[in-house]
Amino acid sequence: MASRAKFVAGNWKMHGSLESSVQLASAVSEGTASLSGVGVIVCPVSAHIVSVNQAIENSSVKVGAQNAHHENSGAFTGELSASMLSDLGCEYLIVGHSERRQLFGETDQQVADKVEAALGHDVTPIFCVGETLEEREAGNLEAVINQQLSAVVQRVGIDAFAKVIVAYEPVWAIGTGKTASPEQAQEVHAMIRTMLSSHSTEVATAVSILYGGSVKPGNANDLFSQADIDGGLIGGAALDADSFIAICQAASAV
Ligand code: PEP
Repeated sequence: MASRAKFVAGNWKMHGSLESSVQLASAVSEGTASLSGVGVIVCPVSAHIVSVNQAIENSSVKVGAQNAHHENSGAFTGELSASMLSDLGCEYLIVGHSERRQLFGETDQQVADKVEAALGHDVTPIFCVGETLEEREAGNLEAVINQQLSAVVQRVGIDAFAKVIVAYEPVWAIGTGKTASPEQAQEVHAMIRTMLSSHSTEVATAVSILYGGSVKPGNANDLFSQADIDGGLIGGAALDADSFIAICQAASAV
């Protein structure tokens, strides 16, 4: 693998009580303390961020959020801004997750707004792209990924990608138990890097691209061993400390 920064980020989605989130964070912190070469990130629900941050205070595990509004403040009932999340100690923000795109109708332009807002507050966006099964089967994989990527590149500029983590998450593999094969994933990761290199080879070579979609301890090593896969964005398996730690170990070992 190239010497790019590797990350494993756990997307806890809308799961966990305050107590279970703190316990999970503490277990992840202890279980990954001796690992090197991988940045470990946990993304609890926003309401648990402060307590999770306290639980992992002296560890190298970082906290991320799952969503933010793109404005700093205003009359947006129920929303949180990137600056508010940053105040709470969030260093990362998942943006453009397929659940946000599909269930909440987020457009490429809104995703670009959010990436821009995160970068404006020194929060690293984990910017997700990925195709549905229908799009893949219709032969539109490349066009879909290109459109999702281009919206953000046009908004923030390619140089800003020095502070962006990209996550390739085929929608058909999220929470379904269907993982893209290491070869399928590698093909798209390489394609993303090629698309970015049309703007800047330097940035494209350095950007970390995570794979997400039913990553488990049993398939993590094969996925993370691919040349253009720099770690993972983990959903279901991130809710189990032992599984998540094993996935972090796999990323550290490759
Ligand atoms: C996700 O939601 O980002 C994800 C990858 O989920 P899972 O690992 O459960 O497929």
